[in-house]
Amino acid sequence: MPKIVVVGSSNTDMVVKTTRFPEPGETIIGEDFFMFPGGKGANQAVAAARAGGSVIFICAVGDDVFGQNALEGYREEGINVDAAKIIKDAASGVALITVNEKGENEIVVASGTNADLSATYVSGIVEEMEDDGIFLTQLETPIETIEYLARYSKLTDQPLIINPAPAQKLSNTILDGLFLITPNETEAKILTGISVEDEVSMQYAAQALLQKGVQNVIITLGDRGAYFMNHEMRFLVPSYPVKAIDTTAAGDVFNGVLTVCLAQNMNWKESIEYANRAAALSVMKMGAQGSAPYKEEIKKFN
Ligand code: AMP
Repeated sequence: MPKIVVVGSSNTDMVVKTTRFPEPGETIIGEDFFMFPGGKGANQAVAAARAGGSVIFICAVGDDVFGQNALEGYREEGINVDAAKIIKDAASGVALITVNEKGENEIVVASGTNADLSATYVSGIVEEMEDDGIFLTQLETPIETIEYLARYSKLTDQPLIINPAPAQKLSNTILDGLFLITPNETEAKILTGISVEDEVSMQYAAQALLQKGVQNVIITLGDRGAYFMNHEMRFLVPSYPVKAIDTTAAGDVFNGVLTVCLAQNMNWKESIEYANRAAALSVMKMGAQGSAPYKEEIKKFN
């Protein structure tokens, strides 16, 4: 099976539950405190590894306790992080999250070393690898690095999947020739200017991305499933009807698991159906990375 190379962010999420958010200048006493590994890159790498993929995760962390713990956690998941960039005297990425009693959150992210995952660093790593990988990246990494990956993937004929989150416009040079893009509805609107509301607008948005040279498009639609389009076929794969408890990272699980399916040469319909199944399992559990299901659970679930 080809190696899955995830290039992306690693964060530590620090969550405090409170009854209400503090006013500016106010200090309040919170309740429970939790610390979770996060970052879209890491979430997708973990989801892929749990689904049975052979995963290399290229990320950048500081040599602080957050970075060290994060790398240790990824190793325990069976992910190869030998190529992680560890930066001396630098702060790893963190997200400070406050959740009030209504379940609403306020989040401040300090990207830290994620901003140092440069094209120069990544090129030094990937150009030493054999040309038989499948690349997966998101937009929490410097855009010059995404541009580099897009170029390198075309040059070496290794598929690149971009999950365009958090939403950001992408240049035509990135999109032209790209193997696969996987926006959700909001991201599809930012990329194309088309609001994805029904099956017709969904087709227009996907079509607009194909016209920019993307080879395959999947628009994820939350509890409605995922829509696929390329120049040969188009179809909707409905989601699994489940009782959603926490949809955080559903998209990350979808992308990580989908990449494993594609690496295993499954066809588009089977791959999306399987990724939908894994994402449905993840929304039935609280949390982000921790809610990614293992291969055995995905296989058993129907
Ligand atoms: P999203 O990023 O919200 O579009 O979700 C990504 C994927 O997660 C979707 O394509 C579905 O497969 C799955 N998903 C998200 N929300 C739900 C839900 N409430 N019930 C079942 N599956 C879901």
